[in-house]
Amino acid sequence: MPLSRLSRRIIVLVGLGVMLPALVLAALGIQLTMRIAQSVENDAVRYNRYLAQQVVEAYERELLSHLRRSITMAENAARDNVPRAQLMQALAAGTGEFVAPHFVALDQLDGYSLLIVESQPLLYSPGEGATKGLFFTGLLLRDSEGQVMGAGGWWVNPRTFLSAHVDDVMRERLPSNPRMYGGYESIRRLSVKLTAPDGTVIGHVREPGSGEVSREPFAGPFEGYTVAVTETGNAPLAWTRRFLAIEMTFIGVMGLVIVAATVFGLRYLIRQLELAQIKSGFVSNVTHELKTPIALIRLAVETLELGRVRNEQEREQFIHAIGRETLRLSHLVDNILDFARLEAGQRVFRFENVDLAAVIQDTVESFQPRLDHQGFKTEVEIADALPRVRGDATAITHCLLNLLDNAMKYSRERREILVSAKPRDRMVAVSVTDRGIGITPADQRRVFEKFVRVETGLVHDIKGAGLGLSLVDQIVRAHGGRVELYSTPGEGSTFTLVLPAAEPAAAGDEPQERTGS
Ligand code: ADP
Repeated sequence: MPLSRLSRRIIVLVGLGVMLPALVLAALGIQLTMRIAQSVENDAVRYNRYLAQQVVEAYERELLSHLRRSITMAENAARDNVPRAQLMQALAAGTGEFVAPHFVALDQLDGYSLLIVESQPLLYSPGEGATKGLFFTGLLLRDSEGQVMGAGGWWVNPRTFLSAHVDDVMRERLPSNPRMYGGYESIRRLSVKLTAPDGTVIGHVREPGSGEVSREPFAGPFEGYTVAVTETGNAPLAWTRRFLAIEMTFIGVMGLVIVAATVFGLRYLIRQLELAQIKSGFVSNVTHELKTPIALIRLAVETLELGRVRNEQEREQFIHAIGRETLRLSHLVDNILDFARLEAGQRVFRFENVDLAAVIQDTVESFQPRLDHQGFKTEVEIADALPRVRGDATAITHCLLNLLDNAMKYSRERREILVSAKPRDRMVAVSVTDRGIGITPADQRRVFEKFVRVETGLVHDIKGAGLGLSLVDQIVRAHGGRVELYSTPGEGSTFTLVLPAAEPAAAGDEPQERTGS
């Protein structure tokens, strides 16, 4: 029984009222998280660029410090106005790790370039011939009057210098700014890589992760070389990305759970409301179904008692009516009791090897007077050597009675009923076919649900409580079988009980009790 339009609207509104805010909140959560992640990423990229610049400058300072350390003697000699040969000796003495000390006189300094490091001019020039690949790198030398007399310095291999000083630069030369990536400690989650002009890596600190790379070119004697800074897998950015992925999954799953819970909750609510509606319909239906035969029986009995019948034929009609209504009443009461027992799990089946042919014959025979009275043509077709089935004969009879009753109730002009039984694989199929009103495909599954009566104009004229097919289905299932339905509206229906055949050797003829629910 479908719910009223208003109830459905209210349920849809409640659903939307729960789901929409949940989805909006989830979307806001995702947006906020993405913004935070974006800002962390921007900061990280800025920090990396800053660090790359710092590395470049730190190398320049490193070079300057080496030059200063080595040049002191030459500076002193220049101040003492010693001849050039002695200047060369002084330079050679301070060579340190550099090669080929060199003095360039003032008049030869044209074409040399200057790099200012910490306000200190640093002279440099690429080598040629024997010094090709090296860079002259030196400081100005002044005489005792403070006049620049030239530059003293060394030929330096930038590749060797850069790769040899990676650690010193990272450890000592980077500024210790706690708010930025300062010092060796704070860059431990970053990867720094030095690349030569030909693209080869000449030194690196830690392996890079997958983040964006910030590159900074070297200047002066290191021109052509680059420093690249990127995140390692352990950097804050990498953690942020992981956090973002987890958070997104979390929000997504939460959203899904909320939507699913709402949908399932509402569907459950709808089902419960429908059931409540069906149950209340059932109660009034049953009340009516019980009252009508009782009233008819009372009327017939009173009429007979008061001798108000005019002739023998009328008397028989009243007696027949009493019999018919009593049968109807007992059928309904049987159904209700059986249903209640099955629902409570208290229906006890007495399983034994049942001769189905005999059960069918007996049931049809007992029903025959009603069928005859209503003008039905009944046929019974039972296959030869029908195997026995393992089941409860009373319950199977009850199923057949329900099917016959329905076949009779839901037939119109064509009053034909065929009851047939034949073996099928290791089962036995018992069918009741009528030429009645039939059932639409959409209703074919619903008719087996308890209390369900199909809403056609006709059904209201036909008596019933919506219990019969649900009982048949439950009983057959308890036997390990199934009910099949083939029906075409307007042409008729075939209900088939498929029951398992008895295993001759297994259970023997011993009855067994089993509870059905
Ligand atoms: P009831 O007959 O008391 O209404 P049932 O559970 O026996 O309850 O049947 C459920 C519904 O299935 C019926 O209301 C009817 O609409 C439909 N139905 C059952 N048997 C037939 C049949 N043989 N032909 C057409 N419709 C049927």
